[in-house]
Amino acid sequence: MKKIEFFKHSIDDKDIERVNTVLRSIFLTTGKEVEEFEQKFSNYVGIEYTVGLTSCTAALHLSLIALGIGQGDEVITTPMSFCATANAIIQAGAKPVFVDVEEETGNLNGELIESSITNKTKAIMPVHLYGQMCDMALIARIAKKYNLKIIEDAAHAIEASRDSIKVGHLSDTVCFSFYPTKNITSGEGGAVCIDKEKLAKHLKMLRVHGIDSEASDRYTKRYRHWDMPIFGWKYNMDNIQAALLIGQLGRIEELWQNRDTLWKIYEEALSHLKGISLLKTLPNVKHARHLFTVLTPAGKRDSLLFTIQDRHVGVAVNYRPIHLLKYYRKTFGYKKGDFPVAEEIGKRTLSLPLYPSLKEKEARYVVQILKEVL
Ligand SMILES: *Cc1c(COP(=O)(O)O)cnc(C)c1O
Repeated sequence: MKKIEFFKHSIDDKDIERVNTVLRSIFLTTGKEVEEFEQKFSNYVGIEYTVGLTSCTAALHLSLIALGIGQGDEVITTPMSFCATANAIIQAGAKPVFVDVEEETGNLNGELIESSITNKTKAIMPVHLYGQMCDMALIARIAKKYNLKIIEDAAHAIEASRDSIKVGHLSDTVCFSFYPTKNITSGEGGAVCIDKEKLAKHLKMLRVHGIDSEASDRYTKRYRHWDMPIFGWKYNMDNIQAALLIGQLGRIEELWQNRDTLWKIYEEALSHLKGISLLKTLPNVKHARHLFTVLTPAGKRDSLLFTIQDRHVGVAVNYRPIHLLKYYRKTFGYKKGDFPVAEEIGKRTLSLPLYPSLKEKEARYVVQILKEVL
């Protein structure tokens, strides 16, 4: 069998045609297509305003800035994520404070949050790991009690809900990624969703240097001098990225359905395999089915990973915990043993190929290779 890639995107000819149309037009940066995408994305997630950005990291960063969080503040988050989550907190000038995760799901353990709250804590930044939502009802209760903001990192979880609560519905802002391996992609790209008009306007200014007009205003309307009332960044999504996303967004449930089918094949084949354990999908959860991971026997993950790669099957590690990355150890003094559950998952986790164009027989082949290699 030929190589099985770890990931393949689902961009089709119509998506490419939509990009071509933009490329043949005069206006490439933030304009009509971005507006169309923002509106459609808002409809899909059920949150009134979407602001299109260049990445999820930008969405997390601007969320913190817009909510007034920075120097001297602490933000509680999970060590079991991509480093972007905690990096955004540092970019805003605040300090990431990690709390360990649940053994069953790998998600931020809500029961441990309160003991990490200090008088500097300003926000909680949960990550819906692999596509399964955190206990947002619990997190929202804690946030209310201590007057904290909630910024959700939903990079894995556009399609997710839990107990009928969708991502972003109990938080101040919710952030999404359209990085190439995410559920829908614009190459690089991201978005933040909010339900308050004032905050949405503020975020739209923050994405273009804090100036009070966008290029599309200057293009479509009569020239007027612009001003820069606040300091901002350069994080605006462009029409090319938006054009790539609009069609994928229209197919998002179909793409999810395909991953869900593959997920069930993996789950059934691997749930009783000796040496392997799986994280749990909780009841009443719509799992976004972003990353399918197995927990390998302790001490064997890396050798399994390399052997599977040698058999031409793409695999990955999501994630080695953030607090043990060199910069975090050096800067904040984090060390081994600080967050034992995240560390255990970090040592044992292995991600298998999962994407809509992966064929069922390829998924079964991946299972067979994993069995042989074990
Ligand atoms: C991919 C990812 C990010 C970063 O997304 P970018 O769009 O690349 O900035 C943040 N958090 C998590 C959990 C991710 O998987």
